[in-house]
Amino acid sequence: MSKVMIIGAGGVGGVVAHKCAQLPDTFTEIVLASRTVAKCEAIAAQLSRPVKTVQVDADHVAELVALLRAEQPLLVINVALPYQDLTIMDACLEAGVHYMDTANYEPLDTAKFEYHWQWAYREKFEQAGLMALLGCGFDPGATNIFTAYLAKHYFDEIHTLDIIDVNGGDHGYPFATNFNPEINIREVTADCRHYENGEFVTTPAMSLKQSFTCPEDVGTYNIYRMYHEELESLAVNFPTLKRAQFWMSFGDSYLKHLEVLGNVGMTGIAPVEFNGQQIVPIQFLRTLLPDPASLGPRTVGKTCIGCVVTGSKDGQQKTVYLYNIKDHQACYAEVQSQAISYTTGVPAMIGAKMLLEGQWLKPGVWNVEQLDPDPFMADLNVHGLPWQVVEEPGFELV
Ligand code: NDP
Repeated sequence: MSKVMIIGAGGVGGVVAHKCAQLPDTFTEIVLASRTVAKCEAIAAQLSRPVKTVQVDADHVAELVALLRAEQPLLVINVALPYQDLTIMDACLEAGVHYMDTANYEPLDTAKFEYHWQWAYREKFEQAGLMALLGCGFDPGATNIFTAYLAKHYFDEIHTLDIIDVNGGDHGYPFATNFNPEINIREVTADCRHYENGEFVTTPAMSLKQSFTCPEDVGTYNIYRMYHEELESLAVNFPTLKRAQFWMSFGDSYLKHLEVLGNVGMTGIAPVEFNGQQIVPIQFLRTLLPDPASLGPRTVGKTCIGCVVTGSKDGQQKTVYLYNIKDHQACYAEVQSQAISYTTGVPAMIGAKMLLEGQWLKPGVWNVEQLDPDPFMADLNVHGLPWQVVEEPGFELV
């Protein structure tokens, strides 16, 4: 018996629920818990088998502990927001439940994506004989595992890493985000940091761009260098890396809207007084923007996300590109979601499967690249995210 509790009923939570429901032998029972229970019920109504739905406020440890003790899942899949990571980890420790997530902890009042808060739980999880698996979405997640897979099978030593995340999808809105708007905007407006020669170098947000042509006719897009949380753990876990960078595609309309919203203060995270009430501009903006979970039916086009790694093998320098391409409408046909939630939810389901089936089960706090990439990579091919490897892809990156 392996009962799981999914916390968070947004775009990603919906995909995780669909994908877990497809594997009744692995996920024998599913509980879907979130702040707004109606969202859990709407997802449950789409599924091929019954799941239990529950209301929970994951900001409160005692409430979570009571729920975990009552339901007794083996594992919590946290796909709520990064703000809830630590309260859910605390509750898992207290109730004796394994933990996993897709995004690292971030305090509400500082836009700082860093692992140190969660890495500090290592000893506690080890002593409790429990596992916390961190960052198991696509990026972070599959991109870390792609790096580990290339390092294991194609290189003796890896030297540079460029993670390239292209969303060639179009939802038809002038401005919308493909995952939680607040988290997305905090991430995109942060200073850029990339890893070079043993340290992180800070540059202004969006100050370096280049053109990138995706394989398989996905198209040519402008990609911008930005900070992304997997760089932190990959720089630690692959100490031979001399440089690691993350690139994401953005359309001109998205960037123009973001610039204007930033200029007028709508992306701010500090509270302001309005009509005698404190409001946080970015939280108000979030309520005006389309819900990412609603973009599925109207998004067309493909995502192309992968890793370009250089390094040495048998004394020779080489370059290898490993990527996945996913069609937004194919995702919608399968799980009623666009490809950004799909490409996050599928790796989360596979990570949960690795843990429950024992291939990855190990007490402590682990980033995904520290575990054997092979069974995970095999499962990506089976569960909707097939990947390709191109040796010497022939493109030059900045
Ligand atoms: P959504 O905003 O669509 O969904 C978040 C869900 O969490 C909502 O159902 C929300 O409830 C619920 N929630 C928020 N706060 C609480 C709380 N205190 N207690 C219980 N439930 C709560 O976000 P997404 O589905 O787009 O993203 C989910 C997570 O996935 C985020 O952490 C995001 O950073 C991560 N992500 C990771 C990616 C990767 O590749 N690694 C890519 C994309 C996303 P309510 O409905 O009441 O607001």
